[in-house]
Amino acid sequence: MIKTFTYEALPIRVRFGSGAIAEIGAELERLGARRALVLTTPQQAGEGQRIAAMIGGASAGVFSGATMHTPVEVTETALQALSAAAADCVVSLGGGSTTGLGKALALRTGVQQLVIPTTYAGSEMTPILGETQDGRKTTIRSLDVLPEAVIYDVDLTLSLPPGLSATSGMNAIAHAVEALYARDRNPVISLMAEDSIRTLSSALPILVHEPRNMEARSMALYGAWLAGCCLGTVGMALHHKLCHTLGGTFNLPHAETHTIVLPHAVAYNASAAPEAMASITRALGAPDAAQGLFDLVRALGTPRALADLGMPADGIEMAADLAVENPYWNPRPVTRDAIRDLIGRAHAGERPV
Ligand code: NAD
Repeated sequence: MIKTFTYEALPIRVRFGSGAIAEIGAELERLGARRALVLTTPQQAGEGQRIAAMIGGASAGVFSGATMHTPVEVTETALQALSAAAADCVVSLGGGSTTGLGKALALRTGVQQLVIPTTYAGSEMTPILGETQDGRKTTIRSLDVLPEAVIYDVDLTLSLPPGLSATSGMNAIAHAVEALYARDRNPVISLMAEDSIRTLSSALPILVHEPRNMEARSMALYGAWLAGCCLGTVGMALHHKLCHTLGGTFNLPHAETHTIVLPHAVAYNASAAPEAMASITRALGAPDAAQGLFDLVRALGTPRALADLGMPADGIEMAADLAVENPYWNPRPVTRDAIRDLIGRAHAGERPV
């Protein structure tokens, strides 16, 4: 039965497809942008120069200092580059780290954002920004940081290494999974979420062996877009909160942490979210949601234990304390002892129960 719900679509223009980057000039014109500063990480600086050349006369150069966790110091340096270049738009080319920098600049200056995602993190579809200052990460939700336009060009994802393709794709699946049992879920987002899990879970096992398989790349990017819509529209729960705590406390890599924790968080919530579990099992084609996700991670060959990411064993108790410190909504109440067991299993790389 369809229950009462509220649905609010986010105003973002999306162009999708192999070769879609050729439309960048037209998209900037549509935004009314006169000078665009291209943002990248140092690793993607060369690709940034190529995009700047495509923009031609409207290019205000490349700032290639984007880095993990959106540190405020980097934003301040980028602000100087933005002002020196008299740019009225940023073109964020890369993953969640680069998109985060573009959002931080938009928050401070109102500059328009055209995002060209090259991972599956989904930040381009959300009004969410996490920033770090003095080792503390704060997250805000505001339409001021929502990008105006996104170009998903499948070709630009071909270079994403197999391991990162797998973990970034699992990060996307995590958005879709939690959207299915979100307190503010709605039927439109649930459709997107189930299809996101279906497309990503079929594409990722192909991509770890054939990273240049165009059909699988296209499916994965499409699934990532759907997952980004889920993350941007409805609230997340235990899985995202736990990954945020673990990542921040033990400085663990973002996508890998999501990949390891997801099957355990789903096992935890299974009894309290039967409809969501039915969607996940349909999408995975597996009899059980948590076991199916664990088997998917095994098939991808990515790390399965938080210990492998460098989380110390004596951090388990502390992580459990932190996880219950600030209460938040979750389909099943979050209790310390049960969370401690969950973290212990994820730390050891055991099967979820
Ligand atoms: P990332 O942006 O840090 O990218 C990881 C590395 O891969 C970088 O060196 C990058 O240059 C490189 N890379 C990216 N695409 C590539 C490609 N196609 N080919 C080769 N190399 C490539 O990683 P991420 O997982 O995309 O983003 C993680 C960050 O995004 C985290 O800080 C997370 O908190 C944030 N995030 C924010 C939101 C949000 O809504 N605010 C959503 C998801 C993630």
